[in-house]
Amino acid sequence: MNRLSAAKTLTHKVKKAMPSYVIVEKCDGCKGLDKTACRHICPNDLMVLDKSCMKAYNSEPEMCWECYNCVKMCPKRAIEVRGYADFVPMGAVVTPMRNADSILWTVKFRNGHVKRFKFPTRTTAEGSAVPDGGFGTGSDDLTSATLFTEPASLGLAEVETVKR
Ligand code: SF4
Ligand code: SF4
Repeated sequence: MNRLSAAKTLTHKVKKAMPSYVIVEKCDGCKGLDKTACRHICPNDLMVLDKSCMKAYNSEPEMCWECYNCVKMCPKRAIEVRGYADFVPMGAVVTPMRNADSILWTVKFRNGHVKRFKFPTRTTAEGSAVPDGGFGTGSDDLTSATLFTEPASLGLAEVETVKR
């Protein structure tokens, strides 16, 4: 069995049992760049390029967070994630397609039925978001029980805490 066949077999197995997988027929290895897009974006360093066949693969599928970063980033749309039953029925394939201001999620159910959901990716103009939401930051005390913009963002003068 050559390496491409082996990669296809691995993909088939992974497709049945694991969350993120590469469709080897679509992957072009990011044309041999130093760091592939999927490797660059994965927060868990899971994506690896097999240079002998220029195909990427998820090296530790059981560690995949299903964050979809690699799926959104891949220029060839060569990565899919097999979603768990907590957000789609088992056997469905979920594919995001991102553009400048929206994201389109396509869900293909195991019976072939397809549904699409489109959402805006921003609620403010690019560069205009205010990190503290205009509330100002709270305490600099790292031992404080209040979070970043509390108590103002809660509409309170003070956050109730257990007095010791
Ligand atoms: S980003 Fe896509 S095309 Fe590039 S190596 Fe990864 S799977 Fe292949
Ligand atoms: S879904 Fe997220 S964690 Fe899983 S391989 Fe892709 S980028 Fe990495």
